[in-house]
Amino acid sequence: MLHPVNRPDCIDALWLAVYIQEELLKLSLTLDLSDIRNLNSIFGTDTVSWLWKYKQKLIDPLKGFYSHTNSAEKNDILTAFRHDINYYKQYSDRTFTFYLQPKANLPSPLAAQVGGWFENFYDVITQKGFPASVSGYRCNINAQVINAETLSKNDGLYVCPVCDGTWMERTSTGILGSIDHFLPRSIYPALSVHPYNLLPICTTCNEKIKKDNDPLTYLHQRKLSETFHSYIQPARDSVQVQIGSSWAIVDKGVYPQNQLLIFPDIFDLPGRWQQDADEFDRSVRRRIRDSVDAKKDEGQDVDHNAFDRILLRLDQRLYEEWGGMGNSYPATWYFRWLCQNKKSDLLHEYTNG
Ligand SMILES: [Zn+2]
Repeated sequence: MLHPVNRPDCIDALWLAVYIQEELLKLSLTLDLSDIRNLNSIFGTDTVSWLWKYKQKLIDPLKGFYSHTNSAEKNDILTAFRHDINYYKQYSDRTFTFYLQPKANLPSPLAAQVGGWFENFYDVITQKGFPASVSGYRCNINAQVINAETLSKNDGLYVCPVCDGTWMERTSTGILGSIDHFLPRSIYPALSVHPYNLLPICTTCNEKIKKDNDPLTYLHQRKLSETFHSYIQPARDSVQVQIGSSWAIVDKGVYPQNQLLIFPDIFDLPGRWQQDADEFDRSVRRRIRDSVDAKKDEGQDVDHNAFDRILLRLDQRLYEEWGGMGNSYPATWYFRWLCQNKKSDLLHEYTNG
C-alpha cells in the first residue's frame, strides 16, 4: 500500500500450495481423490501424507461438492482459478476482472463449499504449518515464520506498510502480527494462499479497520490497476498528504482521484492521522526548537537564512526516517504544511526575528 515491501522467500514457497490446489482441481475432473494411489503418483508420498493428515479440510470438501457438480462446472472452476492466479501480472491491464468469485458466479451452496475449500488451505498452512518436506523450503512455513521472515527481509522498515504506525511486535512467545489478504479470501478464494496477496500489516489496519472489505468494490468501484500494492505498486513516493480542515491524500500527477480514495475508503487514512495532528505539531516544533538551540549553542546567529537552512535539513532528516520511525510519513507532511503556512510565526517564535 503506502510503503514498498519485499516478499520473503517463504511466501514465494507458497507457490507450491497454489500448484497443489490447481492439481487437485484438475485431478478431480477424472480421478477418485479418495484413492491415495492416484495422488501418490502425482504428488509424491510426502505431499500426500500432508494432504491426508488434513484430509477432512483439504480433500473431503472438494470430493464432496464435486460429487454433485457437473463436468462443465468443474472445468469452469479450474479455468477461472488458472486465470485468477495470474492476476499479479495484470496490474497494467485496465480491463482485468476476476473469474472465480463463487458468491457472484456460482449457485449456493456450491459457492460456499468451493470458497471454503480454498480457505481451508490458508488456515491449515498458517495454523498447522506447511512442512518443509512438501514445500522444499528450509523450514516449516506458518504465520509466525511469514511474519518473522518478512521483518528480516525488510531491513529498515519498522512501520506498518499501510498506516505508518506500529507494525509487528516481538514478544516472549514470538512475533505478533497480522497477515492481510489484500483481496479478501472470502471473495477471491483463488488467492487464499497466493504469494502476492499475503501482506503482514498491523492488527489495527487488518482486523479493526479493513476487515473483509473488498478494495475493488467497497464504497467505490475500482479496477485492479487502480489499487496500490506494497509488492507491486506502492504509493509512498507518488502521493502526498494534504493538511487542512479535513486531511486528504492527493496525488503528485500520477494517479486519478478514484484510486486515491482507497486510503480513506478501505483504511480510514488519512482521517486516523488527522486525529494525531496535535502530537505531530508538538513533535515537529520540538525538533525545530532543538535544531535552533543546537545552532545557538555553537555560538551561531540564527537569522532568516540560517533558519531556512535548518528547516531544509529537518525536512531531509524527516524524509530519511520514512519507514524507519512510526508516523514519520504524516509528520513530514505536517511539517511541510507548517513551513509553508506558518513560516513567519515560526521565524518569530524561534529566532526572535
Ligand atoms: Zn497499520
